Amino acid sequence: MVARFDEPIRGWDGALQSVYSDHFDADGIKLVSVYSPVNVLAAGMPGVGPALRRRARALPFCGVFGALIHDEGGGRVRPGPGREPLLTYQMAPRDLARVRRSVTLLAEIAMAAGAREVFTSIFGFPPITSMDQARAMERADYDARRVECMAFHPLGSARVANDPRRGVVDQDGQSFELPGLFVADGSILPTSIGVNSQLPIMAMATRIAHRLADRFPRLLARARAAAAPAIASG
Ligand SMILES: Cc1cc2nc3c(=O)[nH]c(=O)nc-3n(C[C@H](O)[C@H](O)[C@H](O)COP(=O)(O)OP(=O)(O)OC[C@H]3O[C@@H](n4cnc5c(N)ncnc54)[C@H](O)[C@@H]3O)c2cc1C
Repeated sequence: MVARFDEPIRGWDGALQSVYSDHFDADGIKLVSVYSPVNVLAAGMPGVGPALRRRARALPFCGVFGALIHDEGGGRVRPGPGREPLLTYQMAPRDLARVRRSVTLLAEIAMAAGAREVFTSIFGFPPITSMDQARAMERADYDARRVECMAFHPLGSARVANDPRRGVVDQDGQSFELPGLFVADGSILPTSIGVNSQLPIMAMATRIAHRLADRFPRLLARARAAAAPAIASG
């Protein structure tokens, strides 16, 4: 959510994810500052023409805050009509309840901090301009289709499993349906893990790499020979 203040904030200066609060962890909600690149932010502001230009010019006065939720819903990746896959996602009722609570919390916090306007990311809703309006968001009438969410850690689209009926690759990262094809990225994690995903992905990828090296020693020797000049030159 974006909140416009009177004083300049210049959110692009310094560390982007510099503040967070785990006060609402028990409710499954983590609050974080999440400044995005200004061109992305500007394009995401509501309005067209002069109204959008006015809002884009106000970006130096805007703070961006988000709520992280460890979702329990899931999506599907299916073959699409062309080369691109078709992705669908259905938000679970529990997650929608947390999103609704987060929107209210973030709006209240922004208004308490002196925001003039709060843009909620709920499609079709005007900006919030008072504490009463912020509190009223808890009861506002909207469903998941109107919530503009982002997924920072999409995982599990080719999940690892012991059984081909339950996953796409085995514990070595090898595809059940296409032996010889190995997958070593975030898609093999069995589910959304609810924490930053880079380290677990690197751990899984390293494990798969070691198993590949054990299994294909000649391939490893060739890869080492090919990489040697680059390693030698630093
Ligand atoms: C805004 C944002 C903030 C994040 N912050 C954090 C954080 O603070 N800490 C953390 O742990 N995680 C963070 N993450 C999550 C983390 O970045 C990802 O989980 C992780 O990078 C996924 O790794 P991956 O190897 O699965 O995929 P990626 O890192 O997405 O790598 C996929 C690679 O494949 C390439 N590729 C795609 N298609 C093709 C093709 N056809 N041919 C060849 N190459 C192709 C892409 O260019 C890319 O380099 C963040 C993610 C986002 C979006």
